[in-house]
Amino acid sequence: MRSTVAVALAAVTVVGAGCTSHRADPGAFRPGAADAGDSYVPGRGNGGYDVSGYQLRVRYDPATDRLTGRATVTATATAALSRFNLDLIGLDVSRVTVSGAAARHRRDGGELVVTPPRGLPRGAGFTVEVDYAGVPTAVPDGELGNGGFLHTADGAIALGQPESAATWFPVNDHPSDKATYDIEVTVPDGLAALSNGVPGERTSAGGWTTWRWAERAPMASYLTTLVIGDYRVETGTHAGKPMITAVPANLPATGPEASSLARTGEIADFLASRFGPYPFDSYGGIAVTDSRIGYALETQSRPVYGPGFFRGGRPNPSVVAHELAHQWFGDSVSLARWQDIWLNEGFATYAEWLWAEHDGGRTAQRAFELRYAATDWSQPAVDPGRAAMFGDGVYQRGALAVHALRRTVGDETFFRLLEGWTGQRRGGIATTADFVAYAEQVAGRPLRPLLDAWLAGGVAPALP
Ligand SMILES: [Zn+2]
Repeated sequence: MRSTVAVALAAVTVVGAGCTSHRADPGAFRPGAADAGDSYVPGRGNGGYDVSGYQLRVRYDPATDRLTGRATVTATATAALSRFNLDLIGLDVSRVTVSGAAARHRRDGGELVVTPPRGLPRGAGFTVEVDYAGVPTAVPDGELGNGGFLHTADGAIALGQPESAATWFPVNDHPSDKATYDIEVTVPDGLAALSNGVPGERTSAGGWTTWRWAERAPMASYLTTLVIGDYRVETGTHAGKPMITAVPANLPATGPEASSLARTGEIADFLASRFGPYPFDSYGGIAVTDSRIGYALETQSRPVYGPGFFRGGRPNPSVVAHELAHQWFGDSVSLARWQDIWLNEGFATYAEWLWAEHDGGRTAQRAFELRYAATDWSQPAVDPGRAAMFGDGVYQRGALAVHALRRTVGDETFFRLLEGWTGQRRGGIATTADFVAYAEQVAGRPLRPLLDAWLAGGVAPALP
């Protein structure tokens, strides 16, 4: 994510992650945990199972703001389950089946609690089918104000970090449980329905058009998006893969939004030369004009850009570089827990520095020096607290730490390390400790004291 506004940093309270495991008779069926044990997002995510795929079929009518959906969730029990939870905010559930058998279900706040007719043994594969409908809602305390499902003048936008997915489908809503997605969205003829991944067949019947999207690489739930409205959609290919960009139809075809998105392939290629092969089967980007979207978000393979980045009337390749860098750092290699968000934002901010240098602007070294002089070292990059997870400590100190690492190990080792990291962890999740251990392995020397000082120390570290 990148914000167009300064984020106020509140006092930081660090709370340890809650323990959600149980020591119990291994043969007993027990309820799955109601959250992922991540103190940054209490209640989000669930325990006891691992999702491999979501098949979503939704229909949305902007005239009534009503969404109807059927979600098919394919999962494996990681514990013997008597019941389990999915996250779902608002919306009414009419029917739930587990592997074809009707299941009891009830709601508990943002949870859908499902009790299958028989317990699910540990290791068992199962599918959950949920029929649901209603008027989707925004997430009231979304970071930067506006996450979740927003009804717009001509359609809707489902977007937001760290949570948004549960406002439009039942989900294990935590990045530690990534899955593939097949998404079908039916909207009135004439409107576009954009989402993640490779486009499929588009069909129309009875005044409605169904758009199909498939994301075959594992995707964290907050990286899903749905953008419905009157858009000018450009479909092409780049490096042999589909490239889909979209800007609102009422914006000029040569405006700053369209010209920025038109550089997506060029910028992705530059980043691939630094970070390793582009990790997904499609490219793209979506510009939106709704002023409630005060940020850009790295939704997988197709980032969404809010209007604030283009107010100057000039193209903004910097924000494109930031969101595309997240395709490696955040999307392909995802967070195991939100306290390590500098692994996303530090590298995405550093990518802005790399791009500026490549594009004839200031060098990464100069950006480092300027930022070093301006940094408040009381704000840590690692475990900054929920209130500061989108603060300068995460973004700027994260980028400073990345450049300090580069200065310390040298360019050859540094870029080999980045490419190795994104290759080895492709499609998976990681923690700060994982990154430090990998960096030490590749560099063949201790780096933890250096990274600790740059990421979390309370005073300015010595320049490397
Ligand atoms: Zn970001």
